[in-house]
Amino acid sequence: MATLEETVYRPPLENESALLEISLGCSYGRCTFCRYSDGNTPLQLLSPEMLCENLEELVAQGEQATRMFLLGGNVLAFKSRYLADIFRLVRRYLPGVTQFSMYARADDVAQKTDEQLEELRRGGLDTLYIGVESGNARILENCRKGETPKEIVAALHRLDRVGLSYGLSSILGLGGREMWRQNALDTAALYNEVNPISIRVMTLTPMAGTPLAVEAATGSFRPLTPRQALEEERLLLEAISKTHAPCLFVGTHVSNSVPVKGMLPRDRDRMIEALSNAIAGADDKDLAQDGAIGW
Ligand code: SF4
Repeated sequence: MATLEETVYRPPLENESALLEISLGCSYGRCTFCRYSDGNTPLQLLSPEMLCENLEELVAQGEQATRMFLLGGNVLAFKSRYLADIFRLVRRYLPGVTQFSMYARADDVAQKTDEQLEELRRGGLDTLYIGVESGNARILENCRKGETPKEIVAALHRLDRVGLSYGLSSILGLGGREMWRQNALDTAALYNEVNPISIRVMTLTPMAGTPLAVEAATGSFRPLTPRQALEEERLLLEAISKTHAPCLFVGTHVSNSVPVKGMLPRDRDRMIEALSNAIAGADDKDLAQDGAIGW
């Protein structure tokens, strides 16, 4: 296939969807923890020729999926008309595809009218995957997310109104050692206000070349130890309401030292217990690191 991005980034819930790369990079590109913040990844679109070539290849492979995930940092940033054209183009090659999903920023939602979102839904858009990262305003400001929790919640409520579903993700440890509790509690509070189909958590791992890696190297940001990240994840789960609408919680990302997965609220206590057992069994070296920060 003709590609711009070598690594495929897709949400776990889309593992049975057909994949079609649309773009490389992100229209925002400023979050301090993100690989796109290095300034070396300008937003690039696949050319129509490359799109057609890749669709032809999917047809040749006998692709039968009814759902397609459009790959790219925040594909919803593109104009509604362009997205509708892509949906039509895909159907010309793969008439069985009826639903589309993609990554988005909350402000991509904010920049579209309700009519545009409804038209995209009628055209096949089904699910948006949005990184909220944290529900704490200061943490979002520190990592230059460019959105506030209030703006994120407002965008998600609009998706509820127009009938688009969404999966959310957040980052354990994004508040560092100083703000781990606020990160857990405020992110849970955000999740309690909205109706995602899934919540995915990853553990912060400062990536080389990002501003956050520089902050970690100079000591102005202190990442959590694995054990502390588990404590944060447990607090997050404890603070998610027991009456939350059913939603899949996915904590199986490779960055998480203990994989947990289950339906909320049904499996909440089981996941909390699994994390508690792992915390209780954390090795001495890890515990010694905890002692050094004086919780
Ligand atoms: S919005 Fe997402 S993809 Fe874009 S820079 Fe921030 S974290 Fe990276």
